[in-house]
Amino acid sequence: MDKATRLKVALQKSGRLTENSLDLMVRCGLKYSRGKDQLMCYGENMPLDLLFVRDDDIPDLVQQDVCDLGIVGINVIEEKRLAFQAKGVTPLFEQLMTLDYGKCRLSIAVPDGVEYKDARSLNGKRIATTYPNILGRYLRQRDVQAEIVTLSGAVEIAPRLGRADFICDLVSSGSTLLANHLWEAETILESQAAIITTPVPVSPEKQDWIHRLTMRIDGVQQVKESKYIMLHAPRSKLADIRKLLPGSESPTIVPLDGNADKVAVHAVCRENVFWETLESLKSAGASAILVLPVEKMLA
Ligand code: ATP
Ligand code: MG
Repeated sequence: MDKATRLKVALQKSGRLTENSLDLMVRCGLKYSRGKDQLMCYGENMPLDLLFVRDDDIPDLVQQDVCDLGIVGINVIEEKRLAFQAKGVTPLFEQLMTLDYGKCRLSIAVPDGVEYKDARSLNGKRIATTYPNILGRYLRQRDVQAEIVTLSGAVEIAPRLGRADFICDLVSSGSTLLANHLWEAETILESQAAIITTPVPVSPEKQDWIHRLTMRIDGVQQVKESKYIMLHAPRSKLADIRKLLPGSESPTIVPLDGNADKVAVHAVCRENVFWETLESLKSAGASAILVLPVEKMLA
């Protein structure tokens, strides 16, 4: 009964995705209490429970139907998908939607002072990585023969230890590469966090909550950048002012009591509103400009 109605969502227990993933669930309305080291949390106001695990285990939990949803990096999803395929197992998880955090890229990095022109520079070399399947596909697609040295961590020190000539690892700011005297030569996969789900049919109650959750996540992601702008505009300048409103579709135009020459313009702008935009609006004739944050949005 419980399994049929309560959604199980797998999140990373502690790592780079944890804080953003929990914050996302809270913004979607979830109330829960989590004790220290607790592996599972019961949703108090939604039929949704959180399971905290290592990120590498998340696709397997969805595959085995232990969890209905999981939040994990595209890098892990892709690596697992290829690993399952290599073993002849059909991956039973698919990407439902991407999330706006955990952005990074899987790149080939080269020790300082070593030359790299293109993928052919990898021929006959050893490349250390925790992503042997993604790297293997990349090498096959480019007809490159190289040795993949699979490590479970600390890939960036492999060249210094003499275990590899190059590395293939996740990069975001590039500071780890810099600290290890490596430079980023080529990106082989762009990544960010994503939600995975199982294609196995779930109960109508669960399906309904998956739908509601994805709508809420859409709303949360949209409002992050969105602002509500209110201003007064001379009727004669309305066309110019409308063009300056960033990412807004159709603003509401309201007449101003006792002022026939001016109107109030209210618009939701789906992009961040910078001081420069306000200055341009003012130069175009707008006055009484207010920018307000948007708390929730349901399209
Ligand atoms: P776990 O103990 O759960 O296995 P982990 O060490 O494998 O943790 P983290 O380092 O916490 O994983 O990274 C989790 C995810 O965050 C990565 O798989 C990737 O999608 C994303 N990420 C974003 N930026 C980076 C980065 N600079 N380095 C590594 N991962 C990053
Ligand atoms: Mg991991």
